[in-house]
Amino acid sequence: MSTAGGADVTSPGGSDVTSRGGSDVTSRGGEPVLAAEERVVSPLADADDRLIEGALRPKRLADFVGQARVREQLSLVLEGALRRGRVPDHVLLSGPPGLGKTTIAMIIAAELGAPLRITSGPAIERAGDLASVLSTLSEGEVLFIDEIHRVARPAEEMLYLAMEDFRVDVVIGKGPGATAIPLDIARFTLVGATTRAGLLPAPLRDRFGFTAYLDFYEPAELGVIVRRSAGLLGVTLREDGAEEIAGRSRGTPRIANRLLRRVRDFAEVRADGVVTRQIARAALELYEVDDNGLDRLDRAVLSALVSRFGGGPVGLSTLAVAVGEEAETVEVVAEPFLVREGLMARTPRGRVATPAAWEHLGLPVPEPGAAAYPGAGYPPGTTLFG
Ligand code: ADP
Repeated sequence: MSTAGGADVTSPGGSDVTSRGGSDVTSRGGEPVLAAEERVVSPLADADDRLIEGALRPKRLADFVGQARVREQLSLVLEGALRRGRVPDHVLLSGPPGLGKTTIAMIIAAELGAPLRITSGPAIERAGDLASVLSTLSEGEVLFIDEIHRVARPAEEMLYLAMEDFRVDVVIGKGPGATAIPLDIARFTLVGATTRAGLLPAPLRDRFGFTAYLDFYEPAELGVIVRRSAGLLGVTLREDGAEEIAGRSRGTPRIANRLLRRVRDFAEVRADGVVTRQIARAALELYEVDDNGLDRLDRAVLSALVSRFGGGPVGLSTLAVAVGEEAETVEVVAEPFLVREGLMARTPRGRVATPAAWEHLGLPVPEPGAAAYPGAGYPPGTTLFG
C-alpha cells in the first residue's frame, strides 16, 4: 500500500478518553471498579493495540469484513473517481470507536494508489497547524483527520475553503494591516472520522460529498474477523472458539482482536495452544468478560442502578460516583453498550434499568408498582420500555 504518512502522523484510532479514567478514581468517593485502561472490552485503542493493529488491518476494500452497504457505496465513489481521473469527493466516516474508520481511510488511499497523510483533530490547535499540512499535500493525496470534531475553530474555517476551492488564505501580519494571501493547494481527498457526528458544525458536514455511518458488527461478521486475525497471528482457532470470542466482543472488531490475543495467551500457557470454545470461555472468565461481553464496570453500573438507586432514574454523574468512575468513562465506554443490549435506558430524568438488567444480574424483576420497579419515580402512565 502506498502510504506516505509524513511527519505529522499521530496515533490513529487512539483517543485520550481512557487515559483520564484511571488515576484519580479512588479520590471520588466510590469504590474503584476498574481503571479504564485495564478494561479488556474497551473500544478505545491502547498502546498494545496500536502496535498490533497495523498487521491486522485489512488493506483493500475486498478484505474488509461487514458494513456491506458502506463498502459498496464507497467502491462506487472510488471507482467513479478513478475512471474520471479526478480526486473523489471528501469522505466522512462516522461511528463508535473500533469499528474500522482508520482502516477505511487507509483502504481509500490504497484503492486510489495515493499517498496518505494522517493527523487528528486535537493535533490541529491553530490555523497554522492545518496550513502547514494542507500546503505540503501532493496532488491526489488522501488526508485523514481522525476525531475531526475536535479541530480548533479557526482551523475549521480554513478547512472549508480548502475542501471547496483547494485554496488556503495565508494571513500575513496582524491587526488592521493584516492581509490574506490566497495560496492554491493540491487537489486532495479529505477523509474525516468522528465518533460524535452531532458535534460537527453543519457547514463542515455539508462539505463532505459522501458520508458513511459505521454500525456495530454481527457476531457472524466478528467471527470472520477473528478467524482472519488468527490466521495472521498464527493462532490455531477452532470454529467454536471463534464463535465464543465473537459473541463477547460487543459488536466491535477492535475488541474481538484484543480478546483473541488474551485467549491466545491463555491457550499457550495453560493448554496446548489451540483455542477451543472451552479455552475461550475459561480465558474470558478470568478477564471477567461475561457471555454477553459485559465486564466488571458494566456489571457494577447495572448493579448500582438496580440495587442502590432502585432502578433509577438517576443522573449520570451520581451513577459514575457510585461506581468510582469518571462520568465520561461511564458515558463513552459502558453506557452505549448497555443501552444497545437493552439493559439500560436513557430518559430525560436520568438513567433507568430495564427489567432485563435484573434478569442479567440474576435478580428477581420487581413487580410493577413496587418501589424498585423500573421507572418507579415516574408519574403513572409513563411508558419507558416497549
Ligand atoms: P476506528 O478508527 O474506527 O477506531 P480502526 O480502523 O482502528 O477503528 O479498527 C480497529 C481494529 O479493528 C483494527 O485493527 C482493524 O484491523 C480491525 N477492524 C476494524 N474493522 C474491520 C473490518 N471490517 N474487518 C477486519 N478488521 C477490522
